[in-house]
Amino acid sequence: MKKTELKDKVALVTGSSRGIGKTIARELARQGCKVIVHGSRDSKALHSSFEEVRVLSPESIMVTAELSRPMEIDEMFSKIRTTFAGLDILTNNAATQNPSGVLELKQEDWDRVLSVNLKAPFLCAQHAGRMMRDNKTGGKIINISSVHAYDARRYYAHYSAAKGALETLTKSLALELAQYNIQVNSIVAGAIATELTPLDRQASFLTSIPAGRIGTTEEIAQLVAFLCSNRCDYITGASITVDGGLTLGFCATRPDL
Ligand code: NAP
Repeated sequence: MKKTELKDKVALVTGSSRGIGKTIARELARQGCKVIVHGSRDSKALHSSFEEVRVLSPESIMVTAELSRPMEIDEMFSKIRTTFAGLDILTNNAATQNPSGVLELKQEDWDRVLSVNLKAPFLCAQHAGRMMRDNKTGGKIINISSVHAYDARRYYAHYSAAKGALETLTKSLALELAQYNIQVNSIVAGAIATELTPLDRQASFLTSIPAGRIGTTEEIAQLVAFLCSNRCDYITGASITVDGGLTLGFCATRPDL
């Protein structure tokens, strides 16, 4: 991809203090974006991610916002508005999880997961969409979803429900924002190696992935950058699965077939 395609675009990547978001922020910065590196709080991880981004893109900034608090989302967008006047790319990447059996799941845990993983992406898309519409710049919104939007996982009822709704939210946003030249797509991620889920995850799990390995954060980040480029201006409302074939169906879980 030509570096110039994303040159000087302003991009917010929620949850870019670590994991997949950190690599997305770095990739967008490498391709010339001014990146807003975000974390829930002022942490060593956030500063270190920001430093890596700033080396690549000196006009990048760092913000904190606890996404379960709508007021902090409002404040984050005020800061973006005063610093850059606009926003070209929003990647809704931040998410939380708190595994629990359905019969034991506490209401407060349900509410927290739904608020960080679903309501916050909606509020961020609303802020971003208004800025893109008012500035007549168009823009790109990428939601990072999960295979568990479609396939249930034990103890992840609230996480799956939020990701499932994020998938349909992606389509609703795409439908209404197309008139403003804003494209909204989602990436349905399978198992991706981060600091918390290393590449050498147990062999028994790897046999259920036809590709025979866990994905890398770079594989997600490069797709985000591609979806943000003008080569994808006619793609909207799409969900692109990046899972090494994990969800291809019954035969994917049966290496003997
Ligand atoms: P991660 O390493 O756990 O990082 C999560 C990020 O989200 C951090 O930057 C964290 O900020 C931020 N965050 C969490 N709770 C927040 C809150 N309440 N307010 C604000 N920020 C918050 O996650 P990841 O594994 O890279 O996952 C990134 C995305 O990919 C998520 O949407 C996840 O559902 C999706 N995904 C991941 C995998 C995988 O295998 N890793 C698979 C499928 C889908 P702090 O550092 O400040 O806490």
